[in-house]
Amino acid sequence: MYKNLESVPRAYNEPVKSYAPGSPEKKELKAMLAELKSQEIEIPMVIGGKRITTDQKVALHPPHDIKHTLGYFYRGGEEHVTMAINAALEASKKWAKMPWEHRAAIFLRAADLLSGPYRAKINAATMLGQSKTAHQAEIDAACELADFFRFNVQYMTEIYAQQPASDKTTWNRLEYRPLEGFVYALTPFNFTSIAGNLQTAPAMMGNVVVWKCSNTQVYSAKVLMDLFEEAGVPDGVINLVFVSGPVGGKVVMEHPDFAGFHFTGSTGVFQQIWKTIGTNISKYKTYPRIVGETGGKDFVLAHKSSNAEQVATALLRGAFEFQGQKCSAASRAYIPDNLWDDVKEKLVADLKTVKMGDIEDFSNFMGAVIDKASFDKLSMFIDNAKKDSETEIIFGGGHDDSVGYFIEPTVILTSNPRYITMEEELFGPVLTIYVYEADKWEETLELVNTTSPYALTGAIFSDDRYVTDHAVSYLSQAAGNFYINDKPTGAVVGQQPFGGARASGTNDKAGSYLNMIRWTSPRTIKENFNPPKDYRYPFMCEE
Ligand code: NAD
Repeated sequence: MYKNLESVPRAYNEPVKSYAPGSPEKKELKAMLAELKSQEIEIPMVIGGKRITTDQKVALHPPHDIKHTLGYFYRGGEEHVTMAINAALEASKKWAKMPWEHRAAIFLRAADLLSGPYRAKINAATMLGQSKTAHQAEIDAACELADFFRFNVQYMTEIYAQQPASDKTTWNRLEYRPLEGFVYALTPFNFTSIAGNLQTAPAMMGNVVVWKCSNTQVYSAKVLMDLFEEAGVPDGVINLVFVSGPVGGKVVMEHPDFAGFHFTGSTGVFQQIWKTIGTNISKYKTYPRIVGETGGKDFVLAHKSSNAEQVATALLRGAFEFQGQKCSAASRAYIPDNLWDDVKEKLVADLKTVKMGDIEDFSNFMGAVIDKASFDKLSMFIDNAKKDSETEIIFGGGHDDSVGYFIEPTVILTSNPRYITMEEELFGPVLTIYVYEADKWEETLELVNTTSPYALTGAIFSDDRYVTDHAVSYLSQAAGNFYINDKPTGAVVGQQPFGGARASGTNDKAGSYLNMIRWTSPRTIKENFNPPKDYRYPFMCEE
């Protein structure tokens, strides 16, 4: 049934380019940024391979340069979601029967196109549309997405190779069918790679998909759709609609052929959608697969034995790269009082050298936060922390949206380990630190474990192996991605499968077989080569 599984090219991680001065990649990227900045593009929806426009045009602006217009997308309505579902179901007739090696080849080709001719374009679009620096765009849009494509092909083939035992007269096999119906992919703004994985992972397994991206990721979503088309994804297999979340949800979650939901985004949205699915459960032909990776309140916990410089560096990189808008970003830290003066000195000294601004200036380490709503929310929490008696802002605290949505990297010191910014996900460049008495390690472990509803990523720093061992076991449910002496961000496909439990998601580990296996509904086939001709069993004969 599944021939030549072992001949599939082995997956590898796409090497990250440096964009160092004088490098050809830097020259190409700068030229692409200039080219994209010099034009205003129109971005239609893509349904059944057709470009669909409406009379509602929405302008797109770089978050760091809000007076500039990158282009426009066309907002759709309920009828477009219905069209997309119909196009998907039509495409399914052929796609579900497409032999796996052709599906694999399409996505291996997509990986090569992405890391080759599309590299500068996807990176430039991600930089301009989502305010990522060149490095952050490179590790996300080019490398991680190419890794998703290549490793998912490998995981798919490893799944197909899992077959049951047979005996002399029977042959048992598992047929890894796609789900019966369509998958809805609802994607976040913060990673172009996630936006490109949530529809392609199910599609690779033979499913058809309606994809609704975030309004603030439309600019790079267009490049992804062009890439899928050029790689050979047939019309209708992936359909991109630009509708509001509630409009998309209303049509999709009422549809009898709704068979799977692939989500990454905030916890509140996921929980609301899960409720809707539950309410509608008797309307569906099959129980929809629900996969959702959601919010985080990721911790760094330093033990008194750890190294202050290493801790400070992990905090800076973990909390402030991409403006803290990674689900894995360090946003609460627990530092022992014996290390605090040294950690603070290094952290503040390093933060003074961090530049924030337009990502076209490669000397900037940070850009702007994604939109006005995020800017307003973050400003409010920061301004409250300025006033509260339990908090002191030890770095940053400024915010200014006159040019773009800029929030200074901000460090809040709190005397209350359950202060609101230790508990709630803010999704921005705000780190809250609680300094604990170095000898209260056990109490602090309990605090880390119970302070927030999330369990996505977490890091401990310790140079005492007994302490490390104890923390690993004590915090066994506190993070789906657990780091020892490292920052809690930067998971690599194929190396650190990613996802968390508790309020952080279903923990189906993006970029692993665990995720891919959710997109198949296996059929067991037993074939008998020698069917019996007599109903009587041997034991029924007397001596
Ligand atoms: P979001 O929840 O605001 O949006 C995600 C998607 O849901 C978007 O397409 C959006 O348009 C849609 N949406 C928003 N409101 C909706 C509603 N009421 N009904 C239906 N759809 C709706 O998330 P975001 O701001 O794009 O992304 C940031 C969030 O994603 C953070 O919470 C972050 O922690 C999380 N995240 C998690 C992971 C992970 O792997 N766990 C990875 C990346 C991001």
